[in-house]
Amino acid sequence: KFNFCAGPAALPTAVLERARDEMLDYQGRGLSVMEMSHRSDEFVAIASKAEADLRALLDIPANYRVLFMQGGASTQFAGVPLNLLGAGGAANYLYTGIWGKKAIKEAEHLAVGSHVAASSESNGLIAVPRQNAIQLSGDAGYLHYTANETIGGLEFDYIPEVPADVPLVCDMSSSILSGPLDVSRFGVIYAGAQKNIGPAGLTLVIVREDLLDRARKDCPTMLNWKTAAEADSMFNTPPTYAWYLSGLVFEWLKDEVGGLAAMNAINDRKAQALYAAIDGNDFYSNPIVIENRSRMNVPFVLADDRLDAAFLAESEAAGLLNLAGHRSVGGMRASLYNAVPEAAVTALVDFMGDFARRHG
Ligand code: PLP
Repeated sequence: KFNFCAGPAALPTAVLERARDEMLDYQGRGLSVMEMSHRSDEFVAIASKAEADLRALLDIPANYRVLFMQGGASTQFAGVPLNLLGAGGAANYLYTGIWGKKAIKEAEHLAVGSHVAASSESNGLIAVPRQNAIQLSGDAGYLHYTANETIGGLEFDYIPEVPADVPLVCDMSSSILSGPLDVSRFGVIYAGAQKNIGPAGLTLVIVREDLLDRARKDCPTMLNWKTAAEADSMFNTPPTYAWYLSGLVFEWLKDEVGGLAAMNAINDRKAQALYAAIDGNDFYSNPIVIENRSRMNVPFVLADDRLDAAFLAESEAAGLLNLAGHRSVGGMRASLYNAVPEAAVTALVDFMGDFARRHG
């Protein structure tokens, strides 16, 4: 069966098989990684290897810290203003969809004041704002955006330019590791793990070192990036098993896929095949402008929504799982994260063609 879930998402089969084989007895140690002290030599080696592999994959510069945190990307919606606005400044946001809206709401909740520097609202969330539409407030403490809106299926096709003194902050929960990335363009990148990284429970934060001294005094210890950096992400008990599994995913990406350029090419092919199937007839449609169509999350609707229930029931019976759109928008959504093989897209495209012929 093929799993198109938006999150928690499919994990590479090779990773699950290896985890199964090592689960009860990790490399002859007589215990599971789940049972190891996070301070043991064995686990510290697992944790360091995961970080080293991630650094190699993303070519993360030496002046960036990689933090393995908890609480999901949603916790970082608060973590960002709390860690960056100690010296004042306004929280600036690009608004392109539901996740960005949640980040803005959290900044407002913390009473830091937020400024929407550009928005996709006027175009109905079908295109991202272009660079020349971005208007930072005079006192901008950072600019935050969501690289890929998981629910709307709207993805940035460029990295926004910011003045040198304004850190660029990006929620990359649903697009990190989908292809190569120039980390040096960012002040902070964060992502919930449960799409392209590993299982839920781990949150990745990549932060430029000079930004570790900007936290508000009231930033809780567990949210403070500097605390996490100084403790090598072990201020308290980290999510050890999720960290280990994420390490296996990084190894798979490096050694089996062949790195992020190779992953990028595969992801391009998968997305192109599915969008071609959607565009190829009047039965299906996707509203996003071509250059901002998400490669990871492909929402689509049937021209006749009375067929939605049949589409979902028949696709599930055909082994194509989790194709229902987000509960807030309905329709369909196929998430094509790294672990979804090209064969899954071929099967979906075949099913869609067959369903359209039978019901069209
Ligand atoms: N940001 C984006 C772009 C997401 O897709 C999600 C979850 O799907 C979140 C944030 C929230 O992540 P979490 O559930 O880890 O808090």
